[in-house]
Amino acid sequence: MHFDFLLIGQGLAGALLAHFLQKAGASVAIIDDAQRGGASVEAAGLINPITGRRFAKSWRIDELIPFAEHTYAELEAQFQQPFFQYRPIIRALFSAKEDNDWVARAGESFFSKYLKEASDEGPLRGFIQPAYGFGQIEGSAQVEVAALLSAFSARSKQEGRLIQANFDHSKLILEKGKARYETLLADRVVFCEGYGLHKNPFFNYLPMEGNKGEVLLVRIPGFPREVIFKHKVFIAPFGGDLFWIGASYLREFTDELPSAGERERMENHLRRALKTPFTVVDHRAAIRPTVSDRRPLLGLHPEYPQLAVFNGLGTKGSSLAPFWGAHFADVLLQGVPLDPEVDIRRFRNN
Ligand SMILES: Cc1cc2nc3c(=O)[nH]c(=O)nc-3n(C[C@H](O)[C@H](O)[C@H](O)COP(=O)(O)OP(=O)(O)OC[C@H]3O[C@@H](n4cnc5c(N)ncnc54)[C@H](O)[C@@H]3O)c2cc1C
Repeated sequence: MHFDFLLIGQGLAGALLAHFLQKAGASVAIIDDAQRGGASVEAAGLINPITGRRFAKSWRIDELIPFAEHTYAELEAQFQQPFFQYRPIIRALFSAKEDNDWVARAGESFFSKYLKEASDEGPLRGFIQPAYGFGQIEGSAQVEVAALLSAFSARSKQEGRLIQANFDHSKLILEKGKARYETLLADRVVFCEGYGLHKNPFFNYLPMEGNKGEVLLVRIPGFPREVIFKHKVFIAPFGGDLFWIGASYLREFTDELPSAGERERMENHLRRALKTPFTVVDHRAAIRPTVSDRRPLLGLHPEYPQLAVFNGLGTKGSSLAPFWGAHFADVLLQGVPLDPEVDIRRFRNN
């Protein structure tokens, strides 16, 4: 069977790239190992324009959010299912300094679109503990990543374009201008393996660091679902009647499994944040595909142009995958120059 593209991995990177390649008329097959999990299915899908202790504006967020909204709307229309929702973030402020910094930022035009002063805890009143103050982030959103990927897999499987299996790099045969894998022949193979990249013999020279995230899924009876709460952890609505609590950021890790220590730490944070009781129903972990310079990894292999990589979405796959998936499809199909900020040629292969 011959395809224009064979994608390895169907997390946010693989799914969004496939969407744009197919939209432009290319044929796409995907190999994804469902057993392996991945970062996307554990994500809350938060798109947060203002992050960190210094309330920094996320990289290129003014372009990323409208593009993401438009792309997820296209996918919602295709699958007849909601995936994207604007949802304000109410952020607890813990000191006079934080409160002052927030108010000062809210007054700057560079931030004012996203960062608002909040007089109180709004709809969360009665559910959360008092804080020094509260701020509100607007323009933030949440993507139902697991639902999107499951709809995507079901359709690709039905169309006979998804192979749910492990991809064995040693079985890839590179021919002139093409690549062969078992019964599949493709003009290009694009690796979208998330943290799995570190085992990819063609691209493991790229500086993928990896960052382990652990999350709790909990029930909090009556807790509002129309906002996201940021205390020491995020509390975000999740599937069914669950809430997503997380996530930890661990640069040092020895496995991909949930740990008793992180569970205790997150439960303690939750106890300090909430006035109301909660029940933990699940505890999960995955590795984020983070890169040393915190920028995505897009590009062609320096020796084998039939091999390409789309990775490095780090902590922000929900906002980055649509924009960079569309850009990479333009690069691969129309020869548009690759944006140097994300081009893997910034790293040497030696
Ligand atoms: C706990 C946690 C919370 C997060 N929360 C958010 C959030 O709120 N907002 C946000 O924007 N981002 C969040 N992220 C980050 C986000 O999940 C990532 O940026 C994004 O999922 C990366 O997508 P990806 O497709 O590159 O990788 P992945 O989702 O890991 O997908 C890679 C896929 O490749 C497959 N694969 C790998 N190797 C092989 C192989 N050899 N053969 C076959 N298949 C293979 C895997 O099975 C997997 O399906 C979070 C991450 C974690 C871990």
